[in-house]
Amino acid sequence: MYVKVFIKDIHLFMNTSPIDKLTIDAREFLIMRDDLIDPYLSGNKYRKLYTLLKTPSNKLSTIISYGGTQSNAMLAIAAMCKSKGWEFIYYTKPVGKSQKASLVGNYLNSINLGMKHIEVKHEFYRDFIASLFIKKDESTFIIDQGGAVKEAREGLEVLAKEIRELCLDVKAVATPSGTGTTALFLALALPEYRVYTTPCVGDVSYLKEQMLALSEIPKNLIILKPKKKYHFAKLYPEFLEIYKKTLKAGIEFDLLYAPAMWLSLQEQTKERVLYIHSGGVSGNESMLERYLLTRKR
Ligand SMILES: *Cc1c(COP(=O)(O)O)cnc(C)c1O
Repeated sequence: MYVKVFIKDIHLFMNTSPIDKLTIDAREFLIMRDDLIDPYLSGNKYRKLYTLLKTPSNKLSTIISYGGTQSNAMLAIAAMCKSKGWEFIYYTKPVGKSQKASLVGNYLNSINLGMKHIEVKHEFYRDFIASLFIKKDESTFIIDQGGAVKEAREGLEVLAKEIRELCLDVKAVATPSGTGTTALFLALALPEYRVYTTPCVGDVSYLKEQMLALSEIPKNLIILKPKKKYHFAKLYPEFLEIYKKTLKAGIEFDLLYAPAMWLSLQEQTKERVLYIHSGGVSGNESMLERYLLTRKR
């Protein structure tokens, strides 16, 4: 089921993603369907990899990245490398045997797309990742964990231009944050809009720290603090509930980032909002399995 992977060529999209309406608890939201760009290379990962996607194939030979084994960024990079003919090396901390056997979704898809996975022992991991940057040659590009690179800016400027040209009846957009790269660069490129985000990995101060590593944080970027402390990739009944609610209303969102954003928007905002659908639904299969297992217990 996961094995069949079919990528011919990922085109640079000339079209703006469609806009849908979604009504949740009697409040109407606009949804920018960036999730429809490509099954593997979708949403903000497409936006963040835009500069690399535009790079001629012969300019690079190898892409290196590192992070978690279920990462959406990993899958997107794997898809990009497949279509570009670039080698993709992905470093992670050691993955246990039983854990490896149970890996589904993004990991298997990435392996099938040709990703070379290398595990690095915990005690060497930090130094090893740092050493990659020193050793790298001209034809190798290193993408920081989660795609948090300055090169991500251009793709988000393109998204901002598209939003502006749609002339929608909104003054606020929303996108959840992992590294914060998407929200930050979008806010910088859309100064006339309020950009709402919420941290899904760590707390508000950790998110700010991540953002500050890339640029100053503009005033129009509003970080909504979740009502409760959520840990990334953990299971929460209210996450599953809002996931089901949005699905029932007509659109599937991811289970890692979107739920926290939806909850914060519902609790802390009132105005009309354009929600940028950043894809990531390919990871839902494994998340839903986990939700099912905890219910059985
Ligand atoms: C990666 C991802 C994010 C987080 O993006 P950052 O730029 O790292 O903040 C949000 N939503 C989805 C669906 C993602 O896949």
